[in-house]
Amino acid sequence: MKTADRLDRGFLLYQKEFEEKALEVLRSGWYVLGKEVQAFEEEFARHLGAQFCVGLASGLDALYLGMRALGISTGDEVIVQANTYIASVMGITMNGAVPVFVEPNVYHNIDVTKIEEKITPRTRAILVVHLYGQAAKMDDVMALAQKYGLYVVEDCAQSHDACFGGQKTGTFGDVGCFSFYPTKNLGAFGDGGAIVTNRAELAEHIQCLRNYGSRTKYHFDEVGVNSRLDELQAGLLRVKLRHLEELTARRLEVAEYYSAHIQNECVEKPAVQPGSTSVWHQYVIRCRDRDRLQAYLKEKEISTMIHYPIPPHLSRAYQHLHILEGSLPITEEYAQTVLSLPVYSGITEEEMRYVVEAINRF
Ligand SMILES: *Cc1c(COP(=O)(O)O)cnc(C)c1O
Repeated sequence: MKTADRLDRGFLLYQKEFEEKALEVLRSGWYVLGKEVQAFEEEFARHLGAQFCVGLASGLDALYLGMRALGISTGDEVIVQANTYIASVMGITMNGAVPVFVEPNVYHNIDVTKIEEKITPRTRAILVVHLYGQAAKMDDVMALAQKYGLYVVEDCAQSHDACFGGQKTGTFGDVGCFSFYPTKNLGAFGDGGAIVTNRAELAEHIQCLRNYGSRTKYHFDEVGVNSRLDELQAGLLRVKLRHLEELTARRLEVAEYYSAHIQNECVEKPAVQPGSTSVWHQYVIRCRDRDRLQAYLKEKEISTMIHYPIPPHLSRAYQHLHILEGSLPITEEYAQTVLSLPVYSGITEEEMRYVVEAINRF
């Protein structure tokens, strides 16, 4: 049996609704920054319990523009977990700021107990990544940020609807940065992103920045960017948002099935910390013999992924930071041992059983 790595199952689940919306937008004659974007922004903000949402072209832009709107720039330091997707780090360095890496805890989120030792007079913000869909320990993060007067930026690209203490990720910090890349839990049919915030002046500034720094047509207040969410993606995201709860519930079922049935001494299953929920963007196991396990599963046509094989500090893109191999041992060990099992939309019971049986026989 071949597990799918295509995304059309997510489309087929609600095909009629997507097709109707797509035709409606195509026939509307209005394609960028219109009523679909505005409606999506209102609905997504309300859905999360945030006051404002600004639609953008990608998750990377959300990180870049969110930090830019906070005034983070050259010479500033931003604390971030070392085991994240590289886009989190690029959002920092695109603003001229320096990433200061902190090791993760056993939940693959930032180890809050290791933040304080990294704070310097130049530290401006803590960038929290709710990695793999699990909310980070936000009470401790917010308390530290308050103590030192730091901004909090949340990377929610993988955590749509994940909660800490019953509150949704993206609503704790100054800005919550979302991606709607097709594989994300709330995925579009192309690129998309958004920022949510409770601060009106930040929302207004980000609206200006996404449209060339313009507030009034042909009047430019600063050098902005073109980072607009288009009408087609916004319309399709509105359809998907209506189904997000059932899609998340299904991911939880898959994760619970894996956790209940995978029994193999060399496999460590993922844990969820007290107070947090996970929306299971990924179901990540750890295995000392990871590469052999992945090859074995591939032979059985089970597609797995490694999130991520090279930590940002060892990536060629960040060689100029001169962070030596061995300096972030937990992060580096995770890069060698993590493996993401299939949890995509539309996975069948039969496929789940097949995955579990294969792993248990390894
Ligand atoms: C996907 C992702 C991003 C970037 O989002 P794009 O929309 O692809 O630019 C940023 N951070 C994390 C953790 C991600 O998973």
